[in-house]
Amino acid sequence: MSKPSIIAIDGPVAAGKSTIGRLLAQRLGYRFVDTGEMYRALTWKALKLNIDLEDEAELSQLAFSTEIEFVPLAKSNEGYCSVLLDGCDVATKIHAPEVEAGVSLVAKVAGVRRVMVERQRRLAQDGKIVMAGRDIGTTVLPHAALKVYLGASSEERARRRYQEVIERGEMADYQAILAELVRRDEIDSQRPISPLEPASDARMVDTDGLNPDQVLAEILSMMDW
Ligand code: C5P
Repeated sequence: MSKPSIIAIDGPVAAGKSTIGRLLAQRLGYRFVDTGEMYRALTWKALKLNIDLEDEAELSQLAFSTEIEFVPLAKSNEGYCSVLLDGCDVATKIHAPEVEAGVSLVAKVAGVRRVMVERQRRLAQDGKIVMAGRDIGTTVLPHAALKVYLGASSEERARRRYQEVIERGEMADYQAILAELVRRDEIDSQRPISPLEPASDARMVDTDGLNPDQVLAEILSMMDW
């Protein structure tokens, strides 16, 4: 396969999609878009406005009227973007526990997904992009030249997430992280619209026991460029 212009990376919570996606984009000189941040930003706004996360009509309207942009940070932070919600940087807010608890409810709303998918397709229209999410290979960019589905056991993914939190100097509870990750995966895989699942032509990468460089090498080996 020659160097693919559009690369989709999907997988469950904490499978390493953004770490690997960012590394891959840096290596190829592509943009990286983490679509989870769009659903998170919208969830943060919904919570701020006290919108009931079961109110599909209200959430769809909110998605429609909300601007979400990615603005690349300085060169020294290559691959990293600020997420702008209606022009305000919310990158540091969208990983809060209350956002994490609500995001899968917001993301299963058909009207919300319609808006997001259309915007994600627009972001990818010029190519040279690595896009990560849950439905990129199946729904958003079904013609992506390379689709990768990253997997790892729930325990391994919870361990990685636990480590990240500890490294940020925050308190973490491994069992709580594991339970939350399993809960979110369940909602994401059971929703009727664009559930979390590998595209039929996705290349499966089991990342258990692999470090990010090894995963990156495996993906790069799928292309001969
Ligand atoms: O990838 P991340 O954990 O940041 O995604 C947050 C949530 O956003 C997921 O649990 C899922 O509910 C939703 N999501 C989605 N489709 C995507 C990306 C994320 O439904 N393409």
